[in-house]
Amino acid sequence: MNYSDAERIITVFNNAGLSQTDQERDADYIITIACSVRQTAIDRIFGKIKDWNKLKGQKKVSLILTGCVLEKDRQKLSKIFDLVFNIQDTAKLQEYLGEKKDSEKTPFFSLTPKYQSKFRAYVPISFGCNNFCSYCAVPYTRGPEKSRSEKEVIEEVKKLIDSRYKEITLLGQNVNSYGNDLGKKDSFTRLISKIDKIPGNYRVYFYSNHPKDISNNLINVLPKLKHFPPYLHLPLQSGSDKIISAMNRHYTQTQYLNLVKKIKKKVPNITLTTDIIVGFPGETDEDFRETKKLMELIGFSMAFIAQYSPRPQTISAKVSDNVPKTEKEKRFQMLTKVLAKNLEKENARLVNKKMEVLIDEVKKENLYGRTGSYKVVEIPDNQQANFLGQFVEIEITGSNAWKLSGKIL
Ligand code: SF4
Repeated sequence: MNYSDAERIITVFNNAGLSQTDQERDADYIITIACSVRQTAIDRIFGKIKDWNKLKGQKKVSLILTGCVLEKDRQKLSKIFDLVFNIQDTAKLQEYLGEKKDSEKTPFFSLTPKYQSKFRAYVPISFGCNNFCSYCAVPYTRGPEKSRSEKEVIEEVKKLIDSRYKEITLLGQNVNSYGNDLGKKDSFTRLISKIDKIPGNYRVYFYSNHPKDISNNLINVLPKLKHFPPYLHLPLQSGSDKIISAMNRHYTQTQYLNLVKKIKKKVPNITLTTDIIVGFPGETDEDFRETKKLMELIGFSMAFIAQYSPRPQTISAKVSDNVPKTEKEKRFQMLTKVLAKNLEKENARLVNKKMEVLIDEVKKENLYGRTGSYKVVEIPDNQQANFLGQFVEIEITGSNAWKLSGKIL
């Protein structure tokens, strides 16, 4: 989401006659788009301040801050940054950059993003969240959910496909509730069905889903889509009913399992990925075992496992962070092992299979690409053929838990 926001912020700078530089020492403006999901991201900003202040002693440079910043951090950071603004209030940034007031009329989502890739793009479909999961800062930093109009989203996607973009990711904190604020039910299923009809050679993904909001309509439509690989990111967070409830997630272990069953029945080749938090306040050994059990049972194709850290202002930060760091680390390692074990088997089954990958990186003697199920494939290619941003047919020749290797056919 922040990456996507940055692409619109760059447009504001470009409109003011400014261009990007990779070197901080060359910059007249340094803008930080903050993330408050984990404390470490905020700590990194504090860590950079010393360097930036040193730079300020050598030349004129403005420090600008936006993105997800909780009020407590904002108070501290306002003393250090020259401008702090809410990401959607780009008029404030325009004004700061000396632009005329009439340019204020461009709403954030109507800004044409300066896409940083020629083949992969992120398209926000909504902003903010109504869910208040007890550990999460997003509802406080981004406010209630606001959906972009279907027309605007489809126009942006269409433009990208016309410009030969190959991979498009629709973004929302909870894509399944897209359009609820516009008074329309099941708008997300309608949106993706319409996008799928756009002619072209492309793949579309979407993030993130909330298990409580996945509709039967969506599950029924998934296998019919041509351009959406059978891939679903379904954050579990915890397998223990007690912890899921303390997280304010509104489902139970049984409901989650039934949902997975229903999805697998309709889309047998589905790739399921997830997010897990270990060491949530009050998570006992037994609670953790429930999470581990579910991970083993479901066999996720990827899991983003985080060790809990409290974010001030959120509900869970009010209770004691009582799982010791060493225990969090231990649980993290145990789940990583479960994941690796499953992936080793899953990836080995792909050897000798032919598939299409999108080449997204060229490094040293190798090409790297992504399968439809978003697995990384390493392809030795001494000739360095110019396949970047193209779909190529490959055969899988080897595998381990984290990577596949292949050859171009
Ligand atoms: S669904 Fe929960 S975790 Fe996701 S952004 Fe909303 S409050 Fe945060």
